[in-house]
Amino acid sequence: MTIIDGKSIAATVHAETARQTAALVARGVTPRLAIVLVGDFEPSRIYVTNKRKAAARVGIETQLHTLPATATTADILTILRGIAADASVHAAMVQMPLPPQVDTAAVLAAVPARKDVDGLSPANLGLLFAGQDCFVPATPQGCLMLIQSVMQSIAGKHAVVIGRSNLVGKPMAHLLLGANCTVTIAHSRTEGLPAICRTADILVAAAGQPQLVKGDWIKPGAVVIDVGINRVDGALIGDVDFDSVAPLASAITPVPGGVGPMTIACLLKNTVYAAAKATGTAA
Ligand code: NAD
Repeated sequence: MTIIDGKSIAATVHAETARQTAALVARGVTPRLAIVLVGDFEPSRIYVTNKRKAAARVGIETQLHTLPATATTADILTILRGIAADASVHAAMVQMPLPPQVDTAAVLAAVPARKDVDGLSPANLGLLFAGQDCFVPATPQGCLMLIQSVMQSIAGKHAVVIGRSNLVGKPMAHLLLGANCTVTIAHSRTEGLPAICRTADILVAAAGQPQLVKGDWIKPGAVVIDVGINRVDGALIGDVDFDSVAPLASAITPVPGGVGPMTIACLLKNTVYAAAKATGTAA
């Protein structure tokens, strides 16, 4: 059984991003990412700090726009209009979740499509589902890389994705379909989830339910990707019960140290892609 080392695979992605950033800088283009942070939800603050630090390490500049927890949808749209008009900013993202008074769908729709490195705008998701050039949402993009790091070919394999959010589950299923897997999307209303999971060659758990997936849900030899990040009594717990699942899997991601590091790495990869595209500069 292989424990998939997300940190080391992410380091390889960061190294390539740093190389591409240096090439862009040499041509007079410094990739710049604008991050919009609303409110003072502690995990969001930590995620944003980590993204900015990682960006700085690879040579990407970040621009932070903070708004109070009382911000309105209109306040955020004003910031996004400024970002859209600023040609020196190549990439933009709004840290989720937004406070309850904010219309999240309206905000995501206002992220300029050519700068939408999180890939969550309806325009970008449409391109993804149509199989056209777009920003691939970072977390599922990272998951696919982790799967491909341990499987030579995934064509024809049965992949089961638990979760159907626009952030993870749906784009993940689509990427696996694009790689010629046979895909099942399971969710909170799915009946007989353990039996469905037992047919999976590749199982991606993105339900946000601590240790939902148990050892007796696993087909021997399956590759198991645990996207879940659940805070339980101060500890980070995945959606997979690692101790019972690992002995059956051929490969599995740990939490932390699996999918998490890939998410930031792929966000920055998308940022460099945005800068190269916006400036017509091949990275
Ligand atoms: P979400 O709450 O938007 O969606 C969860 C999905 O899981 C829903 O579609 C729901 O139908 C399904 N679900 C919930 N309970 C279920 C159950 N008992 N059985 C089957 N399906 C169930 O969450 P999300 O934004 O998609 O994130 C999912 C998890 O991934 C969370 O733990 C989140 O913190 C984590 N996450 C991690 C990263 C990372 O970088 N590692 C990035 C994004 C999200």
